Amino acid sequence: MGPVLLQSGMCMGSEERKTRSDKMRPMDPDHAVQIADRTWWVGHQLPGDNLQCHVYLIEQGDQSILLDPGSSLTFAETRRKIEEVIPFSSIRWFVCHHQDPDIAGSLPLVEALVERGDAAVVTHWRAQALIKHYGVSIPYWLVDQNEWRLPLQDRVLRFIFTPYAHFPGAFCTFDESTGVLFSSDLFGGYTDEPSLFARDPDYFESMRLFHEHYIPSRDVLLYALTKIEAYPVDIIAPQHGSIIPRHLVADILEKLKRLECGLYLMGGESGDTQRISQLNSALRDINKAMIDARNFQEIADRLLTISQCMLPTVSLEFHARLENDRFIHWVLDKQYQGTGGELPEFVEALSGIDRESWNRESEHRYQPVSLNHEEGRYGIRLPLFKGEEERAFGVVVLHLSEETTPDNLASQLLEQMSLTLQVAVERETIFRGMEMERQKFYERSIRDSLTGLFTRFYMEDTLQRLFKIHDRNGGMPVALAMLDIDHFKDINDRYGHIKGDEVLRQVAQIVSADARAGDLPVRLGGEEFGIFVVGESTGGISHIAERLRRKVTQIRFSGILSELGVTVSIGTAIRQSGEVIPGFIERADLALYQAKQRGRNRVFFADTKDHSNQWSLHFD
Ligand code: GH3
Ligand code: MG
Ligand code: MG
Repeated sequence: MGPVLLQSGMCMGSEERKTRSDKMRPMDPDHAVQIADRTWWVGHQLPGDNLQCHVYLIEQGDQSILLDPGSSLTFAETRRKIEEVIPFSSIRWFVCHHQDPDIAGSLPLVEALVERGDAAVVTHWRAQALIKHYGVSIPYWLVDQNEWRLPLQDRVLRFIFTPYAHFPGAFCTFDESTGVLFSSDLFGGYTDEPSLFARDPDYFESMRLFHEHYIPSRDVLLYALTKIEAYPVDIIAPQHGSIIPRHLVADILEKLKRLECGLYLMGGESGDTQRISQLNSALRDINKAMIDARNFQEIADRLLTISQCMLPTVSLEFHARLENDRFIHWVLDKQYQGTGGELPEFVEALSGIDRESWNRESEHRYQPVSLNHEEGRYGIRLPLFKGEEERAFGVVVLHLSEETTPDNLASQLLEQMSLTLQVAVERETIFRGMEMERQKFYERSIRDSLTGLFTRFYMEDTLQRLFKIHDRNGGMPVALAMLDIDHFKDINDRYGHIKGDEVLRQVAQIVSADARAGDLPVRLGGEEFGIFVVGESTGGISHIAERLRRKVTQIRFSGILSELGVTVSIGTAIRQSGEVIPGFIERADLALYQAKQRGRNRVFFADTKDHSNQWSLHFD
């Protein structure tokens, strides 16, 4: 059986160049495979080896070239495949892109076959310094001393210096006539299921580990890629992994340019390259979350997801101290709205700790702690530091589905998360502090400070909206019960203003306790209160008023007020459509006046049917 011609249109030689085979055959790694015009793959796949090593042959009459001759383990097969294409003696040039045994290990076997005196090992001087230890006597032809080019009969090979991408003397070879880049380790990949050609852009995932871990830095990689980009590369034939056909070259080159490198530096003792990559992308995602997220909830959500790539995190919980020494607490259940509250013990223990003391705990820092003994829940705590003293102003707790001690890589993730969250939580704390101040001022303007009932200011605002709805469709009627304490002046005179205030508070307490959600209890003035009732129950306003009246009589005061019995008079009214606030309140006030007139401690109802005040009196 002869060599195999490539049939996928990847970079076919022209018709007349199908010199050695008459008909096309499927790709068969047991034979030489043509990958471009007079260019052949002559490697050998070792079973179970996920770092396949490739050898390439360029046919050039008696000036033929063997690129990266390969390992001593594969050389016999490589030789057999070469001889499917040309006699071994036609090879003059043996290119070694660097000195590793999977490239140059076969040189002693090559030497045993070479009879011609003009044969040469083509390499860089740095690689030569090491290749010489294979002990072969074939002369060297150094790319750096020959202007980085080897002119041949009808093609020129260009050598592209790509140092430190694996080795300080590393280089690649570009064949101008075919557009094939023999890229050595660059573009190489680990492949669990060897495939001579990359089939789709996913091949990049095989390349990822190889490059992001073993190439020391992105700068080194970009330097090499930029040089390569200056050439019209059509096919990439790497020494490991799969050959990259024309339609994937641009995509893979772009992806490689964006890759981060040197991840082994991150791994410390860990050799788990998969997890190191995971950590790397998690760290990148953390930064991205901080930049992209619109609010605290989104940051929290995204960090939760990111943490889940390395830990069994079920939710995040945040605690932070506000300026006024109150604490704010954010949890997922409450959509991170933030609530006040006490610090749980497992957070309290870290409150105020300084960064140095925390770091001294080294390995035990991220040890999970029990959050709830009965429920057997565990969490990892991350203190958040601020200020010059770097004291903890907050703590993030990662709730875990099972007790898990983070390994070195997960600890790095936690470290980065806490650095990022420091900023996010502090920002949110400032924002919340301002929001609470604003809320406090607003509350002051809408709540009466003595009684806690709504102010007239708030009442006006709310009634206007309610009246609009009422006028629009007749729905949502509004009724008012207006209360005035009977003979309150006497109470003040007898017991003093302080005690008078006490009475006001207690009566207001009855009013607000009686109000249901949707009702509007208001302090209308001195010792006058109103309760606006909205919706269905307006018809029952007299009953509501009567109930209030009775409850006030039942108040039992203490101390010097213990003998005091307080009563109120109440006027009620139901709003007529189109009626304005002052008119409506005035009608209730007139009814209240009637109640006073009729002897106090009673309710008087301003009937709306004939627009005149009729009385409906209630008393014990
Ligand atoms: P009537 O039964 O006719 O309502 O008699 P009254 O004494 O309750 O009515 P009047 O309007 O003459 O007196 C109300 C008193 O309420 C006068 C005022 O000093 C007192 N007052 C108003 N606001 C406050 C307050 O915030 N605290 C105290 N302690 N007293 C107040
Ligand atoms: Mg009064
Ligand atoms: Mg009064």
